[in-house]
Amino acid sequence: MSRVLIVGGGAAGMMAGVLLGRKGHDVTILEKNDKPGKKLFITGKGRCNLTNACDREELMSRVVSNSRFMYSAFSTFDQQDVMAFFEAAGVPLKVERGNRVFPVSDHSSDIIKALTRELEKSHVHIRLKTAVDQVIVKDDTVKGVRLADHTVLPADAVIIASGGLSYPSTGSTGDGFRFALETGHRVTDTSPSLVPLLVREAYIKKLMGLSLKNVSLTIRRGRKVLYDDFGEMLFTDRGVSGPMILSASAYVGAELKKGPLDASLDLKPALTREQLDSRILREFEAAPNKQFKNVIGVLFPASLTPVMIELSHIDPDRKINYITREERELLIDLIKGFPFTITGKGDFKEAVITQGGVHVKDIDPKTMESKKVSGLYFIGEVLDVDAVTGGFNLQIAWSTAAAAAEAIC
Ligand SMILES: Cc1cc2nc3c(=O)[nH]c(=O)nc-3n(C[C@H](O)[C@H](O)[C@H](O)COP(=O)(O)OP(=O)(O)OC[C@H]3O[C@@H](n4cnc5c(N)ncnc54)[C@H](O)[C@@H]3O)c2cc1C
Repeated sequence: MSRVLIVGGGAAGMMAGVLLGRKGHDVTILEKNDKPGKKLFITGKGRCNLTNACDREELMSRVVSNSRFMYSAFSTFDQQDVMAFFEAAGVPLKVERGNRVFPVSDHSSDIIKALTRELEKSHVHIRLKTAVDQVIVKDDTVKGVRLADHTVLPADAVIIASGGLSYPSTGSTGDGFRFALETGHRVTDTSPSLVPLLVREAYIKKLMGLSLKNVSLTIRRGRKVLYDDFGEMLFTDRGVSGPMILSASAYVGAELKKGPLDASLDLKPALTREQLDSRILREFEAAPNKQFKNVIGVLFPASLTPVMIELSHIDPDRKINYITREERELLIDLIKGFPFTITGKGDFKEAVITQGGVHVKDIDPKTMESKKVSGLYFIGEVLDVDAVTGGFNLQIAWSTAAAAAEAIC
């Protein structure tokens, strides 16, 4: 029986606690908040998208950074294992669009309650309001931790499950990166990911609150396409957000550090240019004597119409009859390529996930044990592994927790 200390009572820490406790280890979770799973509570807009019921190939493809590192951990504890775990713990699950898995109740609190119940059943201690300040290492072997109040707790194994830097109000303040550095590990540059994107053009502000479905997004540097996708998005006071944009942020972050990127939206991706032209002509022929501003509105949501008129450079008062073929072509260009410039990303306060973290080359992918310090493990978001939305980031937390628990057992 080992004495195991787990730093962080979030998704990864609680899962590791249950799996170790069930095997009879003496496990204590040290959590600085006054309750466990504060971030879990806000996942999936309070519904907790706990995993994704896709196949292994898709699972791997949804991991943005260091997917190969995850191969072994996903094999140890995959999405079916996660679903079986929670169903057995008394949480019925359902699969929604895009294979996203949620509790039938739509309450993330049920996931936290189930984990807490299982921790109790397996005699795991949870010490709340207990912040860890230092990991104690001697002769390349972990010896325990020192708490913020200077108490020293000895241990045979220490698992760092302290999360990343995103939504610091939930307790993730990057302590794990400091522990990693102080104990001789490399930490890659961290940046906010799955986060809204900032836009330069002033006209974007006029679209605040507008959400668009079934549009295509392309992000380029010069002529090189860096990202393209199809889906849902939303305009905000500072730029763009919504599922498609959050995913884009995970892929263009590094390029954004080099400077602004050109983006364009195809507002009518289901129509070819010819089909779109016929559609516009139909509207124009039905109202030849009306003003441009009074006809064009049928093609767009209300708040988009004035912006489209502004960008088309067509006189809004011009009679439809007088609009030239060239002007129509320009209008089609605009609909098929609504332009804006991405200047940056939102910050950690609004990021779903942290990109970067403990260097995976310093960690054994089968066990999550450090290659530098024996008995020290890193799991969950503290690692330099991240994925797009859809339940994949929690799957990373569950799988890395299970890998460490199995190794310690
Ligand atoms: C708004 C939002 C929605 C999300 N929705 C989803 C979703 O639906 N599906 C999905 O897959 N992912 C989602 N995620 C991502 C997911 O929440 C994270 O990937 C996951 O919580 C990471 O788990 P973790 O255990 O590594 O870290 P966390 O859950 O962040 O837990 C870390 C814990 O460690 C504690 N801690 C930190 N430092 C110390 C210290 N020094 N001493 C003691 N305790 C410490 C913290 O207080 C915290 O409780 C969402 C994230 C956000 C912000």
